[in-house]
Order: sequence, then C-alpha cells, then structure tokens
Amino acid sequence: MHLKTLTVRGFKSFASATRFDFEPGITCVVGPNGSGKSNVVDALAWVMGEQGAKTLRGGKMEDVIFAGTSARPALGRAEVSLTIDNSDGRLPIEFSEVTITRTLFRQGGSEYAINGAPVRLLDIQELLSDTGLGREMHVIVGQGQLDTVLRATPTERRGFIEEAAGVLKHRRRKEKALRK
Ligand code: ATP
Ligand code: MG
Repeated sequence: MHLKTLTVRGFKSFASATRFDFEPGITCVVGPNGSGKSNVVDALAWVMGEQGAKTLRGGKMEDVIFAGTSARPALGRAEVSLTIDNSDGRLPIEFSEVTITRTLFRQGGSEYAINGAPVRLLDIQELLSDTGLGREMHVIVGQGQLDTVLRATPTERRGFIEEAAGVLKHRRRKEKALRK
C-alpha cells in the first residue's frame, strides 16, 4: 500500500487544481518559506478526516478554503482527493486503487466520498483505522510534536499502543454504541 496521488483544489494556497504524484519510497517537498510545503501535509491530514482546525494551523475549518490574494478572488470550496494504491489489499475494501475525497463549502456543509460514492466521515475513519493512516494517528509528526510523545502521561501512552494495535476502531464503535 502506498500513496499514489494527491490532488488539491481551492485548498489553502492551492487555488488551481494541483496534482502531486508519489512513487513508492521517500518523497521530499522542497521550496522557499511560505511556498506551501506544510499546506501539502495539511491537505493529506485533512482528506484523511482531520477535524481539528488548529492541527491544520487555522482558527476555524473554513480557513482551509483558498482565501484569495490581490490577484485572485477567494474560492467557495476546498476539495482534496487522495489516491491510495491498494494492490496488496491492506485497505479493507475490494478495490486495488482507492480515492478518498473531501469537500468543504464556504456556505457550510461538507462531503466525503470513496471512489466517487458519497460516504460518512466514519466510513473513512474505519477504512483507514487499521492502516496507521488517518485522523489522530501519529503518522504525521509535526514540528515540536516529538515533545508530546516524550511527555505523554501513562493514559496517553496507552493510546499510542492502542493505535498501533488497531484497537481504536473498536473503541470508537463501542463509544458510538453507548451513546445511543
Ligand atoms: P516554511 O518553509 O516557512 O515552513 P511552507 O512552505 O511550509 O513554509 P506553508 O505554511 O505551507 O509554507 O504556506 C504558507 C502560505 O500559505 C502562506 O503564504 C499563507 O498565506 C498561505 N495560505 C494558508 N492558508 C491559505 C488560504 N486559506 N488561502 C490562501 N493562502 C493561504
Ligand atoms: Mg512549513
């Protein structure tokens, strides 16, 4: 399993549709300060279901939508698609290629899709939860975050182990069932 392509449109500094192709192995994103490198990582976290505006370095979720520049007006929606190569079947879905899409509208409302079919956020979370990818997962380690891991309380540390062991999915299901 590996990330194949990431397409961003109207997300943060990427006003026009921009596609990144990833090969298996290590990818480096290089560029001057403020050119949008971290925005690429934010787009990855966002499309995988990130719900925290702060994690995405904004104040509110709407801040991910292209806000306009002196040369270009603001846009009404942000859309990010991530295509994952699933030829080894690690994602629990019968497709050898899986595209997750998330759209947010400035006027309110958001949409998620898997291979073009509308789904709920929960479906995306469950699809990714045993892979180590996705929301609240520690596959994305931001600057200064190593500290958080080193200073974790025993409960938080248990969370990391549960995440690695793939227990989170079942905990979420249990919590959801208990809320009903
Ligand atoms: P550094 O090397 O300093 O870490 P970087 O390449 O990681 O820089 P980013 O933080 O990804 O840069 O990009 C910052 C740029 O993205 C800023 O110019 C900021 O104005 C722009 N930006 C962020 N959100 C939006 C938005 N909603 N609309 C338009 N531009 C945005
Ligand atoms: Mg950066």
